[in-house]
Amino acid sequence: MASPLDDVLRAAESMTWSRLGDRPLCDACLGRLAGRAGHGLTNPERGRAIRARFAIPAPAGCWLCGGLLDEVGKFADLAADKLGPWEFTTFLVGSKVDPEVVAREEGLWAELGATQPEAIKSEVNREVGKRLSMRLGKEADLARPEVVAIVDTAFDSVDVQVNPLFFRGRYRKLARGIPQTRWPCRRCRGKGCEHCGGKGKMYETSVEEVVAAAVMAQTGGSGHALHGMGREDVDARMLGRGRPFVVEVKEPRRRTVDLEAVARLVNASGSVEVEGLRLAGVEDVVAIKEDRVAKTYRVLVRFGSPVEDGKLQDAVASLVGRPIAQRTPVRVSHRRADRTRERVVTGIEVVTSDGATTELRVTAEAGTYIKELVHGDGGRTTPSLAGALGVTCEVVELDVLEVRDAGT
Ligand SMILES: [Zn+2]
Ligand SMILES: [Zn+2]
Repeated sequence: MASPLDDVLRAAESMTWSRLGDRPLCDACLGRLAGRAGHGLTNPERGRAIRARFAIPAPAGCWLCGGLLDEVGKFADLAADKLGPWEFTTFLVGSKVDPEVVAREEGLWAELGATQPEAIKSEVNREVGKRLSMRLGKEADLARPEVVAIVDTAFDSVDVQVNPLFFRGRYRKLARGIPQTRWPCRRCRGKGCEHCGGKGKMYETSVEEVVAAAVMAQTGGSGHALHGMGREDVDARMLGRGRPFVVEVKEPRRRTVDLEAVARLVNASGSVEVEGLRLAGVEDVVAIKEDRVAKTYRVLVRFGSPVEDGKLQDAVASLVGRPIAQRTPVRVSHRRADRTRERVVTGIEVVTSDGATTELRVTAEAGTYIKELVHGDGGRTTPSLAGALGVTCEVVELDVLEVRDAGT
């Protein structure tokens, strides 16, 4: 069986070394020209074997990297300093190599006819990564690093990119008048103006802010986002088992979080409760955004004129199990495209009715506009409860009782 060095020399034999001329190459740059041959070797080992075989003189400097590969230890030190303030267990090293170096390298591949070269960028990443791993006692993780140190060889600098921290759980919203996410003032876009009383937002707080504040008290971070499995109206409560969500903390300083303490702090707010908090990943955000699950609502309706029980039962039955055509409601038309969609209501139960008001339990497909299903939105939703009854119907209260997902 051929040894790894034989593989390297075979790759090198197919190259035209005379074209190298008097350009000096360091061992690493020489070896990297056959860097994808000979498993398990370092590039300097490859380079020394090639130098001996083809009688390539030992260099004073290196035409290709200009001594860059002697500096990987310095870059590892720089990266370790920059990563100092951040708590993490996994990392990745990336690099921006001086474009002139890359151009020289790629030109040399073509001139010499290199068929198995390795790019200098991957050598820098790997060598800095190895030293950093030893120095920090932490693992490099190519797929999902918590932090990425990006070495810029042209400027001798290291930038740190800190990946977000994710938690998932379910929330209940016990009070009305709270949006799910922070709602920036449209007029000033968050800067603060007369319209928003200088707060930069339209509501005092949001589910997002209550939950994120509790998490960020422990993690620190530069910002947050809340991703919900759908959202309820600002004036609707979210009850029952709550709504699945993922909260994202941007650039967290710390990643060790006492989730029970987070839950206690949120639950003490009186307006929002959370349960089932656990660590999550970016894939949970995708899953939660794609989930199109049915919901069950409690709706309190006031009639414009008295409605008999029998008539109400008939009207309710006529809405179930058939397509409801909903043109984009007037109340959201300023921010959503005007189009007509069909949704199906799978169940409506009359819980109470006294002729003037009724409380309904409505179960409907994801994306059904429940208020419009009741009042008809001036004929933009058909059929509707108001249309079926022939009286005006006003939604007095709306609550989400159940988000019918399979998860916990
Ligand atoms: Zn070199
Ligand atoms: Zn404003």
